[in-house]
Amino acid sequence: MAKVELKGVGKVYDGAVRAVDNANIVVEDKEFVVFVGPSGCGKSTTLRMIAGLEDITEGELLIDGELMNDVPPKDRNIAMVFQNYALYPHMTVYENMAFGLRIKKVNKDEIDKRVHDAARILDIEKFLERKPKALSGGQRQRVAVGRAIVRHPKVFLFDEPLSNLDAKLRVQMRAEISSLHHRLDATMIYVTHDQVEAMTMADKIVVYKDGKIQQTGSPLHLYNYPGNKFVAGFIGSPPMNFLTVTVLEENSDLILDEGGFKLKVSAEHNACLKKYVDKDVYFGIRPEDLDFSGNSGAQDSIPLTVNVVEPLGADTTIWLNTKTQSMIARTDPSRTFKIGEAVNFVPRMEKARYFDKETELAILPAPRQ
Ligand code: ADP
Repeated sequence: MAKVELKGVGKVYDGAVRAVDNANIVVEDKEFVVFVGPSGCGKSTTLRMIAGLEDITEGELLIDGELMNDVPPKDRNIAMVFQNYALYPHMTVYENMAFGLRIKKVNKDEIDKRVHDAARILDIEKFLERKPKALSGGQRQRVAVGRAIVRHPKVFLFDEPLSNLDAKLRVQMRAEISSLHHRLDATMIYVTHDQVEAMTMADKIVVYKDGKIQQTGSPLHLYNYPGNKFVAGFIGSPPMNFLTVTVLEENSDLILDEGGFKLKVSAEHNACLKKYVDKDVYFGIRPEDLDFSGNSGAQDSIPLTVNVVEPLGADTTIWLNTKTQSMIARTDPSRTFKIGEAVNFVPRMEKARYFDKETELAILPAPRQ
């Protein structure tokens, strides 16, 4: 069992810098939870408080229901894997993995068994006698993970462990860590600024901004029902488009007026948007929910000018302009677009999200998770 709970946890550095504010998080036993957000938003500080590497200014940290605030790191039964692998250069891979256990006076046979078991899981058995400098970045990162595995911790913490790897290796290691999670059946908490890592690896994502948790939920729940404009723009790539529009009532229909075009609100959204009649809202639509409909204006389509075309092979990203605002569409690669071309896209209005102009909170309710 290894359930981690943060109750109203906060961190103020040197009595001045507030890094984390009122964090409430439940990491269930065996869950893979990812903390994600832009640089400097307090993710690592939260992880370091869980590890015991930073004091907790306020609130409670519980592991399996036991208060951990004042328990020293070595007694928390947690292992942390860092971005810079921090391997000892003069030791072999075997010695690097065994070192922490030797310090703890674990007997030699047990150390040998644990190192070989971990090396087998990570497919680094053939490197056990090598020094770190004779390994690639990906192999070093595996050794760093191995050093955590041999400790048989209750909880694994990862702090941006893939940031130093090139793009291709990052994708491979991402899959390896996910697979490791299934094989070890362990509780894991993973920090990253990369929303793709969060989406692909997490059972549950915690989105941070400026030290505050914005939303917690499964990857698809956050993608489908972002609770505010920040989460809507952060989760998903390319990001969700936001257009400022005025909500109008015309012949008992609700209409969005952008200035350059009008769109009819999907019937299921009418009730929630009714109180915004004659007010401005953010109309949010994902690039993948825009369908190309030709070169001239059809009803309920958005007239746009092509600004940039990025063919990616499987699909094409197109940067577009309305008369006053910009958007991104993701389209089928079989249709080619020219810069400056006039095009029309139809938004799938039932997929639209709306955000309050003042609070930036989602206007449509989300189903329970
Ligand atoms: P993230 O991991 O999301 O990039 P951090 O948790 O490292 O963010 O940092 C959150 C905030 O706390 C930042 O403003 C950062 O500058 C500040 N901070 C981090 N470590 C310290 C420290 N040791 N002393 C003072 N401020 C710090």
